[in-house]
Amino acid sequence: MADLAIHKKHFLSERVAHFTESVIREMTRQAMLHDAINLAQGFPDFPAPAEIKRAAQEAIGADVNQYAITWGAKSLRGAIAQQIETRQGVAVDPEKQVTVCCGSTEAMISTLLAVCNAGDEVVIFEPYYENYGPDSILSGARPRFVKLKPPRDAEGEWTFDERELRAAFHKHTKAIIVNTPNNPTGKVFSRRELELVRDLCVEFDVLAITDEIYEHILYDGSKHISMASLEGMQDRTITVNGMSKTYSVTGWRVGWTIAPPRITDAIRKVHDFLTVGAPAPLQEAGASALRLPSSYYVNLAEGYRRRRDQLVPALTAAGFRCFLPRGAYYVMTDISRFGFPDDLAFTHYLVSEIGVAAVPGSSFYRDPKDGEQQVRFAFCKRDQTLDEAAKRLSKVQAARRS
Ligand code: GLN
Repeated sequence: MADLAIHKKHFLSERVAHFTESVIREMTRQAMLHDAINLAQGFPDFPAPAEIKRAAQEAIGADVNQYAITWGAKSLRGAIAQQIETRQGVAVDPEKQVTVCCGSTEAMISTLLAVCNAGDEVVIFEPYYENYGPDSILSGARPRFVKLKPPRDAEGEWTFDERELRAAFHKHTKAIIVNTPNNPTGKVFSRRELELVRDLCVEFDVLAITDEIYEHILYDGSKHISMASLEGMQDRTITVNGMSKTYSVTGWRVGWTIAPPRITDAIRKVHDFLTVGAPAPLQEAGASALRLPSSYYVNLAEGYRRRRDQLVPALTAAGFRCFLPRGAYYVMTDISRFGFPDDLAFTHYLVSEIGVAAVPGSSFYRDPKDGEQQVRFAFCKRDQTLDEAAKRLSKVQAARRS
């Protein structure tokens, strides 16, 4: 077949020229290629809870095998509404405000497609989960970045400059994306910080789209606060969440949005024509997962605290400077001590010679230079995986010294 390049028409849309493939997903492919330990993409390598798997098997056995209602099985929507009401005090009508999507990835892009026009701007804290950039571009909006500054010492917090945040808001601003607990930094936004965002959203008549997928993964007594629970935000918040991280089922692709009814109508239209619906039997399993006792969530967070406290000292001993996460299951590190020209060279060395895959920091920044001395590790892995990774990582410094 003739190469497309020789045709006058190249057939590709202009929008796909403005972003690249996901680096996170690429690093998983690299890990497989080099038979390396995958601390790149954030998915667990341990089993999902038995009762959730059983619920999925039973749903398939009971022939829940045809389309669910486009915007989600009633049982799951009911459980979602009940959970946010119980945990965050936010009253939600499951008939009018919940849309079940194929993962929070689809929830996010369906939301942006439902609310953005060409020329709108979307404010995003940077470093940011890489999907938000392409999601904004695909929906016609322009991302506008506000810096999260790394902590000065290992125990400190990532912070932002209030003036810089205010300066990002103006008449073309449609929405701000807030991801708390945050990927990749592990920052958990405080009430005061969320109130600052709230005040700007109200003043400039802007929506808050909050990705709360790590809401249950918290350390050191930090608390998750839903943006929708803040006074004045219920009518302008779209909460994005899903089963993947909370129930260790990233491959199930079950996520959702919670939004005011008029915005939900728009999200449901987009979602319907994009995917029709999320997997029906897995939604039934989701309804039982969301009703697990609170001890499940305590154990989940404690398990990840243990893993964090296993990986971070190993990275520190190997010569990384770690920014201690307060939530989510990633640790951002500074690699400047190793003297590599950039993060891409470093992660290539790491995956091919040390046998550990990580995500280059530049993939979380608009300007690659800002992340060229940073690398992100995921610690949602079994003890033995983290032990083996630690053993391999201890060779990094030795390799540099020799
Ligand atoms: N959230 C995960 C990460 O940051 C990956 C999610 C995905 O690849 N869809 O690694």
